[in-house]
Amino acid sequence: MLKVYNTLTRSYEEFVPMNDGRVKMFVCGQTVYDDAHIGHAKTYIDFDIVARWLRHKGYDLTYLQNITDVDDKIIARAKERGMDPVELARMYEKRFLEDMDSLGVRNSVSDYPRSHDYIEPVRDQIQLLLNNGYAYIRDNDVFYDVSKFADYTKLSGMKLEDLERHRIEPDERKKNPYDFSLWKGAKEGEPSWEISLRSGWKTVKLKGRPGWHIEDTAITATIFGPQYDLHGGAHELIFPHQTNEIAQAEAAFGKKPFVKYWLHSGVLNIKGQKMSKSLKNFITIRSVLERNTREAIRLMVAKTHYRKELNFTDDTIKEAQRHMDYLYSALTVFNNMPEGSNEGVDSEVAKLTREFEDDFTAAMDDDFNTSLALSKLTITINRLKAIAESGSSISRPQKDRAISTIVKMANTLGLLEEETYRQKLPDEVRKLISRREALRSQKNFAESDTIRDRLKSEFGIEVEDTEFGTVWYRR
Ligand SMILES: [Zn+2]
Repeated sequence: MLKVYNTLTRSYEEFVPMNDGRVKMFVCGQTVYDDAHIGHAKTYIDFDIVARWLRHKGYDLTYLQNITDVDDKIIARAKERGMDPVELARMYEKRFLEDMDSLGVRNSVSDYPRSHDYIEPVRDQIQLLLNNGYAYIRDNDVFYDVSKFADYTKLSGMKLEDLERHRIEPDERKKNPYDFSLWKGAKEGEPSWEISLRSGWKTVKLKGRPGWHIEDTAITATIFGPQYDLHGGAHELIFPHQTNEIAQAEAAFGKKPFVKYWLHSGVLNIKGQKMSKSLKNFITIRSVLERNTREAIRLMVAKTHYRKELNFTDDTIKEAQRHMDYLYSALTVFNNMPEGSNEGVDSEVAKLTREFEDDFTAAMDDDFNTSLALSKLTITINRLKAIAESGSSISRPQKDRAISTIVKMANTLGLLEEETYRQKLPDEVRKLISRREALRSQKNFAESDTIRDRLKSEFGIEVEDTEFGTVWYRR
């Protein structure tokens, strides 16, 4: 049974989708005006793991993530560069999707709908809000009247009067300070569309573009309908963005709850500080991938529970890379274990694998406790390596079963997706590696170093001793 922490109810709940076996999930996506940074990597990896786990459990999942391709930030950046805003958005969208490919998260997402393609549904939703008395027109703008929506603060748990201290765009035409834009009148040279709306007896034509919050509910209303199962996103989007999504959808369609489960991921800080323009501490996904593998980034993210804050430093990513290298080398050692029937070893490995699958599943079913799941994975691979080094043999089918279980579970975190652990190690290499480890445990470093040099000069294998154990690899 899967339990999730639901921000809306502030409690752990059993996950039961609205329609048996089918899950509709939406995660707030990228505003494409710059390269994605390592904080974005955390959010999208967190929800990629959620998606992978739901599919692993057999749910038929549709996972949408929007691309915001019309927005103030895009317009401002395009102006700075003397570029056309649409051209700028397309360029960064392409780079964003390349990054998502590099992180191994793109395939989880069923579709990346763009705001540009949902202007008509945006118009329809604004019309419903006007009809239902939740919206008002000022010049070429349409605002949402927050005072009409009773449950406005239910997601954030804040008091209405506290909202004024948060990000509020001031505008003297608003009825209440926390009213927000549904439609923004376009200034000269900005991307715009003309929509026509009925207001009372009149039909008005408004030239402009969608507000930031309404593109998401226009997309989900079109593809999912007025209600769906799971909405995710970074914690800082709860207010105002997602608070406004709920206000729009529930007021337009009259169905509650708009979304049954709200899941939020914690922030990624750089060396204990928030990423910000003034601190100039933005680290792009691309730059981290220059020196580390995708799986090292994913392991670093999985090591912290998704709801918690992750502190990114040079050490956290280096340690994750060593950890990942260790998992691969240890699994290679097990994969090279001599084959032959041995009932004692077979039943020991069978028991170990069964317990691992149960423990890993229990951890993931407990609100995606990836940190615990990862430690179960590491401990189990470590034990298999020790069994392989004990000098005994294992039957081929039992070895294959153990590896396929390990890999199947690790894949739900996006780990051990490379098949390098399948490489055959010559018997001599295998013996040298375990001989060297034995020497090290006897503190005979002189002889163990001689073996390390031999592995390098004769077989091209590099050996490194890490906090997880000995890691070796071929360059
Ligand atoms: Zn959103």
